[in-house]
Amino acid sequence: MNGNSVRQVDVAIVGGGPVGLFTAVALRKAFPGKTIQVYERSSSYRVCGAGINLDLGGMKAFRAVDPDLFDFFQEAVAQIIPPRSRNATDEVQASAVLSNHENYGFHTGLIGWYEIVEALYKALPEGVVQTSHQLEGVESCSDGASKLLFKDQPSVRAQLLIGADGYFSPTRQAVMQDEPPDFANVIVFRARVPWSKELGIGQGLSHVRVERGEKIVMMMYNLKDNVTVWTFTIDADKAREAGVAYDPESYTSSRVQQTASVQNQHSQDSEAYKRCLQLAKATLPQTEHIVADTDPSAVVEHGLFTRPGEKVAALAETGWGKGMVTFIGDAAHSMRPTGQGLNTGLEDVTVLTGHLMSQGLCESALRTFEKERIPRVSTIAQMEYAMAASNYGHQVERPLNDKDYAEFKA
Ligand SMILES: Cc1cc2nc3c(=O)[nH]c(=O)nc-3n(C[C@H](O)[C@H](O)[C@H](O)COP(=O)(O)OP(=O)(O)OC[C@H]3O[C@@H](n4cnc5c(N)ncnc54)[C@H](O)[C@@H]3O)c2cc1C
Repeated sequence: MNGNSVRQVDVAIVGGGPVGLFTAVALRKAFPGKTIQVYERSSSYRVCGAGINLDLGGMKAFRAVDPDLFDFFQEAVAQIIPPRSRNATDEVQASAVLSNHENYGFHTGLIGWYEIVEALYKALPEGVVQTSHQLEGVESCSDGASKLLFKDQPSVRAQLLIGADGYFSPTRQAVMQDEPPDFANVIVFRARVPWSKELGIGQGLSHVRVERGEKIVMMMYNLKDNVTVWTFTIDADKAREAGVAYDPESYTSSRVQQTASVQNQHSQDSEAYKRCLQLAKATLPQTEHIVADTDPSAVVEHGLFTRPGEKVAALAETGWGKGMVTFIGDAAHSMRPTGQGLNTGLEDVTVLTGHLMSQGLCESALRTFEKERIPRVSTIAQMEYAMAASNYGHQVERPLNDKDYAEFKA
């Protein structure tokens, strides 16, 4: 290949978050002869992101694709134990730890977004993930392939393009030019901090502290290795009343290229810290010291943007991709962060891989994948909405019924 020629690959996955990396793991096993590359915007993986509840869907996906990864995550997750499962001296009852294992044959639990990414990255041979590759555009070629245009990097031509670039998916913007996710009128501030007793949360796994105000929630939970994550979630109108305005327009347009992923964010300055401190002081004073004691550079801020279940369901006839391009994870379906976004993305990987294996790398496999996923994804998105409503005090348009829950657990 000379300096001017375009590199050719069979499969290009844009976005090296957990879903993009897991897609590469699965497709490399399914298609050992094909060239499969991941293109990630960041120059390296730095410790960042919140905690993730790896639930039934995610664990089943790991078990289906890679037994070694499944075993690793069985060991790595911290099992979530409800407070009622403690006895009078705060010891955890053994039966609570075992319940998921008894019901499903494996553990589910909490782990950092970063730790998931790290494990998946290590599961791939060197060179599969190309860092410092920020996608800026996509051109479609006459034979159905896609030409990927990167900032300050040579272009790449891919037979199959999978957008796994999160929330605002620049790949989806370039290929589909459809609506971005909706602003849910909620602002989230969060940080990963070293555990300390001043945080007011017990030491060790399974401790959770929640402080609530009207349409405000401060939640804290521990990860392994004495790490605590706090998230301060507030209704945007409430924040405005407290003197902290949020402009979703600026987020969806000019800032998209810098902050396209919901988890892979770093603070450039202390602005998020200052804004969160002002809000904590004005609206939930018992949490002010938690924010005040946090390293300002550890605090990130983002709006909550979602694709509501009914909007996902409206794509039932067409699917969410086109031609030899599909989307997966948050790029396909961003949800409220109540515990299913990533799990749903990991499930996507197994379903997509299954259809590509049975039909080959072709358009009809992509559309079959999307159409199979849409009913389940829209049900989960509705369930997330209902859970967020009860957690944060928002309106619920359609309460979920028993059938919804049964489908979710299936
Ligand atoms: C506070 C919080 C708590 C959450 N808790 C849970 C939970 O308990 N359980 C759960 O299942 N889900 C949870 N989620 C949701 C979960 O984080 C997401 O669903 C998940 O990260 C999606 O993975 P992804 O790989 O699709 O996207 P991302 O994790 O967003 O990764 C996308 C990747 O694409 C890269 N990228 C972006 N733009 C470009 C570009 N132009 N070119 C190249 N690369 C690019 C990014 O750098 C990033 O690495 C939570 C979310 C939040 C905010």
